[in-house]
Amino acid sequence: MARITVKVEPLHADGTTCDHAVSPSGKPRDSDSGCAGRRSYRVWCSSCGQVGKPHGLRVLAEPEQARHRAQHQVATTR
Ligand SMILES: [Zn+2]
Ligand SMILES: [Zn+2]
Repeated sequence: MARITVKVEPLHADGTTCDHAVSPSGKPRDSDSGCAGRRSYRVWCSSCGQVGKPHGLRVLAEPEQARHRAQHQVATTR
């Protein structure tokens, strides 16, 4: 059974994932990194891909992440 990971990924305004270092305020830590700042957060599942629509805040994406992870646990319970 492949291990499934469900994570919250930050996105830029253009929909690309942000893996830049940012300060706790959400601003890019390095102004030369080319990071335009984080606009939204999506739930990403290694098995299903994107789950639902991107959320404006991380705290809004986390319940969906937990819900989706729980769905897989139900599906894989012996
Ligand atoms: Zn970025
Ligand atoms: Zn999934």
